[in-house]
Amino acid sequence: MPKDRDTGRSPTSKELRDADRIANLPPTQQKDHPSAVPADPSKLDHINTYGQLPEFYIDRPFSCRQCGKREIWRARDQKWYYEEAKGHIDAVAVECHDCRKAKKAGRSSAYPTHASRDDLGVKGVD
Ligand SMILES: [Zn+2]
Repeated sequence: MPKDRDTGRSPTSKELRDADRIANLPPTQQKDHPSAVPADPSKLDHINTYGQLPEFYIDRPFSCRQCGKREIWRARDQKWYYEEAKGHIDAVAVECHDCRKAKKAGRSSAYPTHASRDDLGVKGVD
């Protein structure tokens, strides 16, 4: 069986350890890391920020705010989110795939849903 695309959905403890370690490196070392994905500034022109635009994306480990599951927001998924989906640069993944899916699938069913601003499970930092 071909391996599914690695979405960071069910990271092994080693993957999480690696991601944690990389996330704590200084930016100069992150940038040179093989897992870093270069940003395309021309696709980030929807972002109005006084801060600097990212030069690269790096895998970002996080804990789901709903169920506490640890997942990794892959660098290439961040690139897609910011550059193709035109996400806000301060937005970060806060929910795991399962919780997002549950939200999307049945706003009616088992999971009580808060009025969320979008379906990506991404929360803006105001
Ligand atoms: Zn979750």
